[in-house]
Amino acid sequence: MDNLEKFCNLLRDSAEINIDPLQRGGILTPQARAALMEWGDGYSVCDYCAGRLDHITNPPVEEFVHGVLPEFLGTDEVRVTHGAREGKFAAMHALCEKGDWVVMDGNAHYTSVLAAERAGLKIEYVPSSKEPDYAISAEGYIDAIERAYEQKGNVSMAVLTYPDGNYGNLPDAKAIADACHDYSVPLILNGAYAIGRMPVNARDLGADIIVGSGHKSMAASGPVGVLGASEEYAKPIFRTSQAKKNKEVELLGCTVRGAPLLTLMASFPAVAERVRHWQEEVDKARWFSSEMEKLGMIQQGEKPHNHDLIFFLAENLYEISQRAKKGRYFLYRDLKERGICGIKPGLTRQFKLSTFGLGREELDKVLQAFADIIECYVR
Ligand SMILES: *Cc1c(COP(=O)(O)O)cnc(C)c1O
Repeated sequence: MDNLEKFCNLLRDSAEINIDPLQRGGILTPQARAALMEWGDGYSVCDYCAGRLDHITNPPVEEFVHGVLPEFLGTDEVRVTHGAREGKFAAMHALCEKGDWVVMDGNAHYTSVLAAERAGLKIEYVPSSKEPDYAISAEGYIDAIERAYEQKGNVSMAVLTYPDGNYGNLPDAKAIADACHDYSVPLILNGAYAIGRMPVNARDLGADIIVGSGHKSMAASGPVGVLGASEEYAKPIFRTSQAKKNKEVELLGCTVRGAPLLTLMASFPAVAERVRHWQEEVDKARWFSSEMEKLGMIQQGEKPHNHDLIFFLAENLYEISQRAKKGRYFLYRDLKERGICGIKPGLTRQFKLSTFGLGREELDKVLQAFADIIECYVR
């Protein structure tokens, strides 16, 4: 066990502009960065806990969890989780029986699949329409529920990814919720890429359960997320232990008991404010997408686009990779040299990026970089 020093001073290698969709919404506010330092010690939030994390009044967790978040999400009850995936698993584990069916969109995140697998559920997918839109429809949910019933067994849950993490598509959640409700199937809205970026109200969308990701979209240092449910489903999901008074079983008593929760709280005023400017983000994303298309890339997914996560096909960059030094790593290297990171090393033919929270000047710089790189190799 020698040479452990290398773990002591780890620095992050990131460029000036990071366009990775995973990173854009999780950048801390100055207030959250200060909270991270102040509350960094282990169980820091537990100094004044009387047995329930969500009822701690100093720091004001109770007001945040029982007052502010339910209003923000449009649900009756909310708890803080370690992330979107833990919320989905808790809901499935509480509400479904092993061997039941869960219906989910073909664009679902892998964590929805794993949550279902861990809960012992079978999955029936709602296929998306094919390229270029990859759309998910309410009719698709009806068909999938019918198919699951034909294979025998109970359909006890539906999941909608809103938006999905590949194309940034925002399906008609209300119509899908209505379709599920016609079969008495509750709907989980997976808002990992929505909550904290754009206005989302579970009640208005007809979602029975909603999950969000603090480190993905709420300017928080993870792992942290939110899980909201209407009263009907909150009861079983947040049921308390028979053995240990007041402890909620699905949450294993307490979830986030330190700095990540405080960063979520400290960022919240700024997050509540930024969702009010969502339309500007959408306008920016559309403008950026059309500029990329002028450079020869082709946007996939909904058009006009309704989210900052954008997927592109880039045959022109792929062709360059066939003859560039370093092959398919050329794009990563050439962008990094121009102060830009966030497209996975080795990708050229198709990739996704996000414009969230970037100013027009920064996005101009990104566009200029793509233009320069393409120009450089064209001869
Ligand atoms: C990132 C992501 C998740 C996972 O979120 P965690 O909070 O890390 O669990 C789930 N679903 C979608 C669509 C995502 O993009």
